[in-house]
Amino acid sequence: MVARTIPVDAFDLVIFGGTGDLARRKILPSLFRRMRAGQMPATARVIACARGKMTRKAFQQMIREALLEFIPRPEDRPDDLLAQFLEVLDFVALDATGEAGWAELGEKLRPDTVRAFYLSVGPALFGPIAHRLHETGLATADSRIVVEKPLGHDLPSARELNRQLSESFSEHQIYRIDHYLGKETVQNLMALRFANALFEPLWNAQHIDHVQITVSEKIGVEGRGGYYDKSGAMRDMVQNHIMQLLCLTAMEPPARFEPDAVRDEKLKVIRALDPVPIGDTVRGQYRANGTTGSYLDHVENPDSRTESYVALKVQISNWRWAGTPFYLRTGKKLRARLSEIAVMFKEVPHSIFPEVSQRRGNALIIRLQPDEGITLRMTIKDPGPGGMRLREVPLDMTFADALGDMAEEVPDAYERLVMDVIRGNQTLFMRGDEVEAAWAWTDAIIASWEDDRARPEPYDTGGSGPEEALALMHRDGRRWREIEG
Ligand code: NAD
Repeated sequence: MVARTIPVDAFDLVIFGGTGDLARRKILPSLFRRMRAGQMPATARVIACARGKMTRKAFQQMIREALLEFIPRPEDRPDDLLAQFLEVLDFVALDATGEAGWAELGEKLRPDTVRAFYLSVGPALFGPIAHRLHETGLATADSRIVVEKPLGHDLPSARELNRQLSESFSEHQIYRIDHYLGKETVQNLMALRFANALFEPLWNAQHIDHVQITVSEKIGVEGRGGYYDKSGAMRDMVQNHIMQLLCLTAMEPPARFEPDAVRDEKLKVIRALDPVPIGDTVRGQYRANGTTGSYLDHVENPDSRTESYVALKVQISNWRWAGTPFYLRTGKKLRARLSEIAVMFKEVPHSIFPEVSQRRGNALIIRLQPDEGITLRMTIKDPGPGGMRLREVPLDMTFADALGDMAEEVPDAYERLVMDVIRGNQTLFMRGDEVEAAWAWTDAIIASWEDDRARPEPYDTGGSGPEEALALMHRDGRRWREIEG
């Protein structure tokens, strides 16, 4: 099977912060892969803007080194293609908040070419850059602007950011990236639900016992403690990534696969979320173990109450989901790096087989990482003689196995999202009202923790989170799935 790639039109992509970590590690390697796949034309131009003088040649050299580092296999980056890609790159020394560089940038942009501005800089610069783009006339009516988390710190700051962006750009020009939405499996969740007749009739409280969404990381906050301690797991993971996974799992079928139709349905889910009582939340902070420090060792404030782990029991108040809880958890320094959605179906209403211990409901596991894929847990008869013994088997659709060579061609999230920006397709991007609704819901939970003033529960590095999180499930007669990489 050969992947089908439809080339995009020529474009001018301006990356503010084009010498930063995100640009070097993700955006530019993704563009290179799209050029290799034949999707990005050699007539495209990528103009990096950053503070500090640098020649075009020096910038090209910097990106050459980044590509060697982040696309490590030489066969994945043939010399001729590398040279062709570097030719597309340009650099303008520009101060986002000053005068330097803006006129030069204007001279480099071509009329009648798709124009996109990627703000790969700190969020404090989003508003000022949007304003300058408008003021200088560099942003045309069809230009796109791309921003990425953190999109605010709470509802008031998210509103303020939306206000600033909307002064210079209309909503249809604003692309808010949540890179989880660019993952192949996440889109497959929509295909699975809405392109197959099999699941949708079962996709409700009558048949689904509960849903578990897990985003677990092995790493801690070392080196990022300053940023993370002001944020915590709730703001860093739940408000954005986990919320998006929850929405795609829980939303009603949109009438069409179109940006606003999809985003309207996601927004309805967020608005249907019940406030979460503090007793249905667990916060944790990782302890030190023999070789690595504790959370408190990795941040400046020795008394910090910021959570590096959170678990929540969430109820969605609508006809489809009333009575079926969604359990969400995310944390750092856990046993493995794992992101998955587990849809746990109810048991059969009456078992005709005597093996009571074998009676577990079906489970549909949508794995985002590692090894993107979808697994359906079924119960079958144990093969051979010896009576009617049952066993559970996975019906596995790991993309790497099922799609063969095509799996190699599956673009990573940034590849897909940047190409969607150029094509002008907002389906996989968050709308301003969605971001605000998600903040309104998370803010209330964070406020209840602040009122409570309790310390987060300690948990062991390399484990599966605090005991209290296990209890959150046990008291409902349920169990978390194992965190296994
Ligand atoms: P970074 O510090 O590595 O790079 C920042 C870039 O911005 C540099 O190129 C710098 O020259 C430029 N810059 C700073 N001030 C400027 C100014 N006044 N005018 C012009 N250019 C200026 O940061 P990063 O890690 O690349 O992150 C950029 C943004 O993306 C941040 O908002 C971050 O939160 C977000 N983000 C980063 C990652 C990641 O993996 N690095 C992931 C998700 C979101």
